Amino acid sequence: MKRYSAFAIAREAARYHQGWERAWAAPTPKAHYDVVIVGAGGHGLATAYYLGKNFGITNVAVIEKGWLGGGNTGRNTTIIRSNYLQDPSAAIYEKARSLYETMSQDLNYNVMFSPRGVMMLAQTEHEVRGYQRTAFANALQGVETKFIGPEKVKELCPIISLDGPRYPVLGALYQARGGTARHDAVAWGYARACSDMGMDIIQQCEVTGVRSEAGQVTGVETSKGHIGCGKLSIVVAGHSGQLAEMAGFRLPMEAIALQALVSEPIKPCMDVVIMANTVHGYMSQSDKGEMVIGGGTDGFNNYTQRGSFHHVEETVRALVETFPIISRLKMLRQWGGIVDMTGDRSPIITKTPLGNCFLNGGWGTGGFKAIPGSGWAMAELVAKGEPGPLAAAFGMDRFVEGRFIDESVAAGVAH
Ligand SMILES: Cc1cc2nc3c(=O)[nH]c(=O)nc-3n(C[C@H](O)[C@H](O)[C@H](O)COP(=O)(O)OP(=O)(O)OC[C@H]3O[C@@H](n4cnc5c(N)ncnc54)[C@H](O)[C@@H]3O)c2cc1C
Repeated sequence: MKRYSAFAIAREAARYHQGWERAWAAPTPKAHYDVVIVGAGGHGLATAYYLGKNFGITNVAVIEKGWLGGGNTGRNTTIIRSNYLQDPSAAIYEKARSLYETMSQDLNYNVMFSPRGVMMLAQTEHEVRGYQRTAFANALQGVETKFIGPEKVKELCPIISLDGPRYPVLGALYQARGGTARHDAVAWGYARACSDMGMDIIQQCEVTGVRSEAGQVTGVETSKGHIGCGKLSIVVAGHSGQLAEMAGFRLPMEAIALQALVSEPIKPCMDVVIMANTVHGYMSQSDKGEMVIGGGTDGFNNYTQRGSFHHVEETVRALVETFPIISRLKMLRQWGGIVDMTGDRSPIITKTPLGNCFLNGGWGTGGFKAIPGSGWAMAELVAKGEPGPLAAAFGMDRFVEGRFIDESVAAGVAH
């Protein structure tokens, strides 16, 4: 694969851009792979990439029922931060955040990582205490965050209204090296690197069944026929329950639609990411100038990847009281993605009852930020058959043993 560089752009400009290669191949599936990964979202592709990069395992297929990155990866609001409360969460999210810092160089693909700073507003005394506790926990975990007062919030984000008709801004948990990245580019960058290592990314190929013998997976049934595998890795986010059912086990996970919307593009007016969890809404400005706005989850389980009016109303109401300046903006698009929620709001990276089958899911409303760390940890689990230090606490047996990694207060529906 030819490297992308300033020189390559100049060379292609001189020959009318006729020499670019396809970023990834479109292979027909082989009969058998060492590892089959179901789901070409960010987590599945990152798993493949680190299997190749860290363990030299490249006889890998990533199977995707739609187009790569077309699930939650391409539908999320791209907030990246690592200021979680519990030690195992802080460790894996901080690993991911640090990998984002060098991802463009590692993949030779501009993922537009923008560490512009993330603020989680404290709008009640309870939130002030909660976020101060998280800031102390983060200091012990080596994660750089701090609790800042309202004046600093205003300095960093002049368009915010501190008074608010319902809740004043009392401060914020601020992570200066948090930010955003271009979601599609993360998927495309990993896909290109995986294809370059000789892996097969097979799109428009739905897995419809899992074949097993004597407690071991032997392959998957797909819309393109049977594909054999030495190991199976299920990384399908909101569809984890369906795949687990095909493999014959159940998961402590629910599928729920989470919604978001964007405005028309406007001039740059906000260069931080802000989450307002009490009124419930969050916002950042994309490089195109659109205000990217995140809403809530539907109140019922479903698989509809679309938005609904009452969410727009609720979310926009919350944000207009926080940022009155946006009250005249037109909204351009809204959509939904199917997220995979666990009871403790922490992911599951786990062995399964089938010896050579592994599962990574349950990232819920906040897994984009985790993609590189999750792929790193999952690759280790798949390659060695046992979890490494990053994944050890996230096995699904924790729900049997009551060993929860409770992020429901720290994370909630926030990203
Ligand atoms: C509206 C919204 C906003 C969000 N905002 C943020 C945010 O700001 N920050 C953050 O960190 N996280 C956010 N998230 C969460 C984040 O997007 C997800 O946690 C993460 O993307 C999930 O992992 P993934 O990327 O691998 O999933 P996906 O991209 O959904 O990948 C799973 C893939 O599996 C495929 N698949 C499913 N079933 C099958 C099958 N049977 N056969 C073959 N393929 C199959 C799907 O088509 C899909 O492409 C948000 C999510 C949504 C929906």
